[in-house]
Amino acid sequence: MSLKKTWFDDDRFHDQCGVFGIFGHPEAAHLTYLGLHALQHRGQESAGIVSSDGAHLYAERGMGQVGKVFAKANLERLVGSMAIGHVRYSTAGESKLLNAQPLRIESHRGEMAIGHNGNLVNASLVRGELERSGSIFQTTSDTEVILHLIARSQKESLEEAIVDALGRVEGAYSLVFLFPGKMIAVRDPRGFRPLSLGRLGGATLVTSETCALDLIDAEFVRDIKPGEMIVVTEDGTASYHPFPSVVHAPCIFEYVYFARPDSLLYGRSVNLVRRHLGRELAKEQPAEADLVVPVPDSGVAAGMGYSEESGIPFEFGLVRNHYVGRTFIEPRQSIRHFGVKLKLNPVRHIITGKRIVLVDDSIVRGTTSRKIVSMVRAAGAKEIHVRISCPPTTGPCHYGIDTPRRSELIASSHSVEEIAKYIQADSLGYLSRDGMYRAVGDLKADFCDACYTGNYPVPVPRDARTSVRNGVRVR
Ligand code: SF4
Repeated sequence: MSLKKTWFDDDRFHDQCGVFGIFGHPEAAHLTYLGLHALQHRGQESAGIVSSDGAHLYAERGMGQVGKVFAKANLERLVGSMAIGHVRYSTAGESKLLNAQPLRIESHRGEMAIGHNGNLVNASLVRGELERSGSIFQTTSDTEVILHLIARSQKESLEEAIVDALGRVEGAYSLVFLFPGKMIAVRDPRGFRPLSLGRLGGATLVTSETCALDLIDAEFVRDIKPGEMIVVTEDGTASYHPFPSVVHAPCIFEYVYFARPDSLLYGRSVNLVRRHLGRELAKEQPAEADLVVPVPDSGVAAGMGYSEESGIPFEFGLVRNHYVGRTFIEPRQSIRHFGVKLKLNPVRHIITGKRIVLVDDSIVRGTTSRKIVSMVRAAGAKEIHVRISCPPTTGPCHYGIDTPRRSELIASSHSVEEIAKYIQADSLGYLSRDGMYRAVGDLKADFCDACYTGNYPVPVPRDARTSVRNGVRVR
């Protein structure tokens, strides 16, 4: 039998990274290890921690999930009271240890390490310029561009050099840096990706999501503001706003899909926003049905909201297997729907004979939705009405979410009726843009919603589709 490894999760969006940092705690590396566990949903392909005792940096990185990369021995090598950590998503071709973060280098400025969540849209342009003037890159990651720019900056202080370097790059970055004796966190001026500040006793923390603070009993202090730089030393924590002010554009899709429901994001509970997305969806896209069934896990809160608003009973009619990795070995004669069935299984006695509202958070290529609909129908559903808790995804993301190219997004070229036909649903309804903003609680709020509207807050150079994308898929 010939066996081949298949990526069965390709018809989903993937976030690219999560970052964590702690300054001023004797168990810094261990707490970072725990924090990374809480951020594991943001990246499962590699994990790393860099610690410092004030004199040097110590790095441990590896491929795979946090629990696989770290053991007692390598955690004990990460000495010191300060540490930063990173989890990263990548696709098969770019899944290299070299690209695992935090990246660490030595330059005339001394040792430095960086963890990055986001994507720089002009990385290939800047990289080309740097290479032509003699820089030698070790990775295919856009993050390394920032390190080279810092090393080459004429500015004297580290803080000024970082601001100088970031002034040359465009796009999305939530960054955490570690130097011997100093931790610096920066969020790009538009604030595409989240970054929060926390406290644990006398220690200062930064994290992509607040769920990492909950895990270690740390206190959430506040979101780091778009364009803000936080500098942490033994003398305390200082805040700077060194960049020209621009219209903010935090990613609205973090609410819809990426962030963990137990996180606070941009000042709001993710779970609550998702419930409201479901409620708005029920108002805009009602259905005559017997049951609301969510596609777990990210469709659950929206499904509950839909049920609350519509009065249609909610049931877990699909069960997710949480113990499956991102790949599976495909037998030569692959069984129909095998990939999806590894992850999801319908509960037949709940579904049989019922008219189902199937609530999900997105349709990407449509292939997975089609398989889920077919699976639910095979389990005996009388009717299937698919409801999506956001508008149709019509364009790719250039700011840190791994999305298929535009031509592969079914909503970029098909009407809602055509998509309904393709996925073989009895009906299909999406939430409108206004409905999405109502759920977030502010119709006038500034968010990035470019993958729905095509309004990209930072212009994307023509070559961005082939640029290095934080070590991720190069198209
Ligand atoms: Fe988020 Fe979409 Fe904007 Fe990307 S394009 S940052 S996924 S809203």
